[in-house]
Amino acid sequence: MVNRELYALLAVQADDAAIREIEGKRDALTPRVSLLDATQRRAVEEVGRTEAALERELTRQQVLETRLANTRSLNGKAAAALEAAERLSEATAAAAQVELTRRALAEGESEALALTRRVADLRTALAAHREVLAQLNTDQGEARTGLAAQRAVIDAELAEARARRQLSASAVSADLLSKYERIAARRKADALIELRDFCCGACDTAIPLQRRPVMATGSVIEPCEGCGVLLYHRASA
Ligand SMILES: [Zn+2]
Repeated sequence: MVNRELYALLAVQADDAAIREIEGKRDALTPRVSLLDATQRRAVEEVGRTEAALERELTRQQVLETRLANTRSLNGKAAAALEAAERLSEATAAAAQVELTRRALAEGESEALALTRRVADLRTALAAHREVLAQLNTDQGEARTGLAAQRAVIDAELAEARARRQLSASAVSADLLSKYERIAARRKADALIELRDFCCGACDTAIPLQRRPVMATGSVIEPCEGCGVLLYHRASA
């Protein structure tokens, strides 16, 4: 009775080992996808940073242009006032205003020139970063398609292995299966271990003498006192 269940559980265990192996293959793909994602993310961020910088400089350019237009108009008014001045005091004040606005204009214009250069540089950089991103997307396309294809094959294998496991598990009692699953989940490895000379095949703890005869029949599955795995003895035919 237990013996039949033992073979059923060994079949479950073999299926689980196959599932773990397939899951290992699937997990090995993850870092490769992550690497592609990280590289792409960096390129996207580079484009974003450059766009933001360009936006900032364009705003500064607008503000500066408004200020320059204003200064130009003040300068024009001051020049007109100078022209129209009749008294020396008026002429002196207007001339000072002309000089002041002229200097402000000169400073503003040199600032505008520097800004124009920065904007041009940023536009060049942005075009380059966008090109890098587009090229990267093209380059990654093949790698991503390949990885997705591998993933699809693995997922199909996994579905098949899980279906097989479900079938095997149906031959094991719920109680024994849940004991086995708890131990297997903890060990991430086999939970049902064959005795070796009445010692646990996992931790080498010996079976107490009085338990040996019943274990020797091959009809019982008992937990190891040392490490908790399920132990069985394969009775010789
Ligand atoms: Zn043990």
